[in-house]
Amino acid sequence: MIPHLIGDTWTRADASSLPVFNPATGEVIEHVPLLGATEVDAAARAALAASAAWSRSPVMERARLMFRYRDLLDRHAEQLAAIITRHHGKTLDEARGEVRRGVEVVEFACGAPTLLQGRSLRQVADGVDQDMYRFPIGVAAGITPFNFPVMIPLWMFPLAVMAGNTFVLKPSERTPLGAVRLAELFLEAGFPQGVLNVVHGAKDAVDALLDHPAIDAISFVGSERTARYVYERAAKHGKRVQAAGGAKNHMVVMPDADLTAAVPAVLNSAFGNAGERCLAGSVAVAVGDTQNSFVAAVDDAARKLVVGPGDEPGVDIGPLIRAEHRDNVVAHIERGVSEGARLVTDGRDQRERPGFFLGPTVLDDVSPAMAAGRDEIFGPVLSISHARTLADAIAQANAMSYGNMAVIFTGSGAAAREFREQTQAGMIGVNVGVAQPFAFYPFSGWKGSFYGDLHLHGTDGVDFYTRKKMVISRWS
Ligand code: NAD
Repeated sequence: MIPHLIGDTWTRADASSLPVFNPATGEVIEHVPLLGATEVDAAARAALAASAAWSRSPVMERARLMFRYRDLLDRHAEQLAAIITRHHGKTLDEARGEVRRGVEVVEFACGAPTLLQGRSLRQVADGVDQDMYRFPIGVAAGITPFNFPVMIPLWMFPLAVMAGNTFVLKPSERTPLGAVRLAELFLEAGFPQGVLNVVHGAKDAVDALLDHPAIDAISFVGSERTARYVYERAAKHGKRVQAAGGAKNHMVVMPDADLTAAVPAVLNSAFGNAGERCLAGSVAVAVGDTQNSFVAAVDDAARKLVVGPGDEPGVDIGPLIRAEHRDNVVAHIERGVSEGARLVTDGRDQRERPGFFLGPTVLDDVSPAMAAGRDEIFGPVLSISHARTLADAIAQANAMSYGNMAVIFTGSGAAAREFREQTQAGMIGVNVGVAQPFAFYPFSGWKGSFYGDLHLHGTDGVDFYTRKKMVISRWS
């Protein structure tokens, strides 16, 4: 059984559990306990008990510990990547990239002495000065999805604790092992007990966090449905919430795009991480006379991608997270065909290997009216749609209920600018397939891709995990 962490104590609970798989083989490698209100209460109390001293600790002390944590993560980067590949399935290179992007948030958090500064204005009225200070909010909790078991927890707790909060992390029950190693290294860095606690489980654990009176803020990343639920339920209890949801990202390919660069970028966006990422390009919109050459080039390149276990050299696409999820993706492909899409590249034969594999699949002639053009599929499926003009392509992207990312491939600055201005998505790529903001900017989903006001990481993250106190003084 995978242990959970309360204070400085790791416990292997005697609880009902779920298997954790190696998706590349289908073997059960661990069991994760399905904890509930009792363990969440213990974790929240431990976080609350640690809160007073931690919130008063000198900022430089917190920054020094964060630097130590960053060094430990760096030294264990290969180990963390191997853990990710083993229970998530992505390739080792993708896992290394995930660790790197997570560590960048820790590096950002090392800037605590600058990030936590307030502002002042002397002589705001005669003899009156005004100061703004940042204070921690108290205890924050993080609920994370399966697809980035190391990076997404690192989007949350390093900034929260840097700001003087204590934290309860509830990682995905499908990929809980990354969070365990992150917490072990956190204690090794010297953070006091109770500053970070880890509980495992699914809906019961989440509900207990959302309802717990000691928890002041909730950070969530996962599917749209759960994001909306978490947002509503936590807000009802007066908690601060940031809840990032799903996506249906469009990639517009203009007639003047350099296809030698655009096609590999489109493929990487659609099939990297086996399509299991919220910044996966899901629909490529071929504009004007790009159409035939683009579809042929994508098909040709997709057929060359190597599918296999993520820890084998030369593999481009690892397995999906579970057999049921793979079956759901296949159902989307088949529904697409029944709704009129043309199956150009068919990855379904990869189902014959052991593990939860599916090969890269390309559907052409998809429209926003079809499920394949509208739903988040979260697998290695690229839909291609067609548009006469840039305006038509933007209208297709804007028809989505999501607004995470949209990208354009073009040689025209004017087209890129028009796209940036008119597209209703919070992360825009120009000749870039995966428009992931760096740690010091917010992860800025719009529409159904985000519920809340302040996004994850960047200065939004600092604002989310702090509250401001205004001091107006007159000394005469
Ligand atoms: P999920 O919503 O199933 O699970 C996310 C978390 O919520 C998990 O910790 C899970 O235990 C919990 N949960 C699940 N169902 C719940 C319920 N009914 N009540 C309470 N808690 C519940 O998401 P997932 O399948 O793990 O992750 C994939 C999804 O996450 C995709 O939709 C993807 O787009 C999204 N995602 C979004 C971002 C982003 O930044 N916008 C990043 C990564 C993933």
